[in-house]
Amino acid sequence: MEHLSVRLTSLSSSATLAMSQKSNELKAQGVDVINLSVGEPDFFTPDPIKAAAKKAIDNNFSFYSPVPGFLDLRKAIVAKLKRENGLDYTVDQIIVSNGAKQSICNTLLCLVDPGDEVIVPAPYWVSYVEMVKLAEGTNVILPAGIDQNFKITPEQLEAAITPKTKALILCTPSNPTGSVYSHDELEALADVLARHPQVVVISDEIYEHINYVGRHASIASFPVLRDRVAVINGVSKAYAMTGWRIGFLAAPLWLARAASKLQGQYTSGPSSIAQKAACEAFSGDQACVEEMRVAFKRRRDLICRLCREIPDMRLAVPDGAFYIFPDVSRYFGRSAGDRKVYDSADLAMYLLETAHVATVGGHAFGAPDCIRLSYAASDEAIIEAMRRITKALSELK
Ligand code: PMP
Ligand code: GLU
Repeated sequence: MEHLSVRLTSLSSSATLAMSQKSNELKAQGVDVINLSVGEPDFFTPDPIKAAAKKAIDNNFSFYSPVPGFLDLRKAIVAKLKRENGLDYTVDQIIVSNGAKQSICNTLLCLVDPGDEVIVPAPYWVSYVEMVKLAEGTNVILPAGIDQNFKITPEQLEAAITPKTKALILCTPSNPTGSVYSHDELEALADVLARHPQVVVISDEIYEHINYVGRHASIASFPVLRDRVAVINGVSKAYAMTGWRIGFLAAPLWLARAASKLQGQYTSGPSSIAQKAACEAFSGDQACVEEMRVAFKRRRDLICRLCREIPDMRLAVPDGAFYIFPDVSRYFGRSAGDRKVYDSADLAMYLLETAHVATVGGHAFGAPDCIRLSYAASDEAIIEAMRRITKALSELK
């Protein structure tokens, strides 16, 4: 007999991690699977960052760190926010956690009471809605389809806000769509939010550096929202450090203090060694960031070109992150032999079984007409994956 809480039984597993696990299991059985499901850079962590971690071990950084993170790391983050984003923070406003994932969850748990509404534009990253559920909040999904480049409009936002709205989660560049909000688009959203002082913006900027259209814009830069934006970022994507588990929250003091109190009770500060590596990432030579961005851009161009050759896929060319999110709904209802494809989850499964390419169905991102492919993979893997996908889709009649 199981004794799980309702909180847990109503929680869905992460579809991105589940698909990746499935692909790894098939690989272990000897199947030649190309994994375009999970979103993580395929590059190795740059050497100076690894060296900083080794030095931390040798220098006996083996004790608990302060709950919000080492002071030198928080100073490096304050300097990064000033240098790259023009934002002014003090070290007390920075809370370092086990990845941006924990930073987002901390923030929601600090803000949301049962029944509070959180506006989540769709397509959304899989974990947002589950974290809102964990906090016993109510998800208010704001759909933004391919025809509006997957971005919400100020009118949509205005219409969705109620007196119960506690927060808006904004992700730019976006996972899963790759859409990037411009400065002017963010300003228009900020103008709406200015009229609703009860709404806190959780601004997930983890893909900040993987941007192909220019300088990253942060909604925290609008003075009218200054005391109610929670900026989320980290080292996972920009520095190819997904496994190191370092992310941060930069927030008004009232929220930062709450996040530190919460973290102090259930995880403490993150790994001391990983923090020292992250400190080097933020304060060392930044050339590696640009090198990886250039490689991702080349791969974006490659995968978009190959995708456009598939007649029934509709694609909005992404301006950032490392995903494409084509609309594949024209394939629904088609069959290959006695295998019929009903929806995006089914199509992702069909591609895994027949083409041996792992993708993620759009249902998990609140966009059931689409599938997500991560192009954080080698050019050869992208070319071969798209060859297999093209063939498998052409067999659906
Ligand atoms: N936000 C988004 C949009 C992401 O794609 C990810 C990647 N998993 C995260 C947050 C969390 O990143 P991490 O916990 O690795 O810092
Ligand atoms: N952000 C990545 C993804 O969406 C990592 C997996 C996860 O944490 O969900 O695939």
